[in-house]
Amino acid sequence: MVLSRRNNPIILILIFIISLFITLSLYNIVLSSSSSSKRDNKAGVETKPDQTLKQWTKLNNDDLQRFNQTLKRILVPRVVDTPSHANVKNFIVNYLNNLEWTVEQDEFETNTPMGRKKFTNIVGTLNPQACKRIVLACHYDSKYFPDFDFLGATDSAVPCTMILELLRKLDPKLKQHKNQNDDITLQVIMFDGEEAFQRWTNDDSLYGSRHLAARLNSLSSRSNLCPRNVETELDRIQVLILLDLIGEASPRFCSYYSKTQKMFDHLSRIERKLNRFKLLETNRLSGTNYFSRCPFSTSEIEDDHIPFQKLGVNILHIISTPFPLNWHLEGDDGRNLHHPTINNLMKIFQIFILEELKLI
Ligand SMILES: [Zn+2]
Repeated sequence: MVLSRRNNPIILILIFIISLFITLSLYNIVLSSSSSSKRDNKAGVETKPDQTLKQWTKLNNDDLQRFNQTLKRILVPRVVDTPSHANVKNFIVNYLNNLEWTVEQDEFETNTPMGRKKFTNIVGTLNPQACKRIVLACHYDSKYFPDFDFLGATDSAVPCTMILELLRKLDPKLKQHKNQNDDITLQVIMFDGEEAFQRWTNDDSLYGSRHLAARLNSLSSRSNLCPRNVETELDRIQVLILLDLIGEASPRFCSYYSKTQKMFDHLSRIERKLNRFKLLETNRLSGTNYFSRCPFSTSEIEDDHIPFQKLGVNILHIISTPFPLNWHLEGDDGRNLHHPTINNLMKIFQIFILEELKLI
């Protein structure tokens, strides 16, 4: 992904001043929210976590080991149309097949500044019959650099690993949902070719998402359980939740779209609740503050959601703002990952998906 090319030095200075202002505002918000949570407790808000919350926020040694094993398989150079890219693709496809998800590979070829390349988007669906879909998305390709092997830990090996491990952790509940619900289901899209081969332009970037959004928009709905206003496969997407640039310490995520503000608020509410019950790993007195209200948050970030957003799909863009310190640098090779942060986000997303699907 890239910040919009409309940015120039004056805008960057403005962004710096605004960021400073936001940081000071957030500091005030943290202070005031800690006093308001005390008021909440007096007003009778639950003071102890229930067993369900405890159960689904518990990450045991097995979970942590599995996460690292999966990450290890993805955290390799995976430039489009190379053998190690094919290995990662096969690993993801097998992973989803083993969970008994329905997997489609959306393959296509197109010209790039480095010649003709073959791309494959991976689309996994829990229950293909269900009309509507909550989509969890990331990109699994890594950026080509001529002078070093780029591993892209936050970009986007960790986001893709988080999605796969979330499916495994929630598997019993998701299978139950599959058998009981034909209205809505979970879908996973792992995009190929997000990165530019050379310089980011409209043509040299977002290869996979541009292809898939156009294709889904041209296909009639394949479910016979859909209401009449759902005409295309694209219409079946209730929301596309795109994870990107996640894995370093203290990320901040902003809400960019009014249509998904409620969902963003849901994430924020879960974070506050887990903080209140001390269910997150933190050594700061005020707890974590990942999902915050960011003033002036209009998205200038070009990422895989853009082709879908242009066609009217609801978007929740979970991307660290500002970008991680090692973005598109050799240092984004895993050594700067902050596992307590990743674990905390896993816990928040687990509860979020279970609650969105009404499974707890
Ligand atoms: Zn990138």
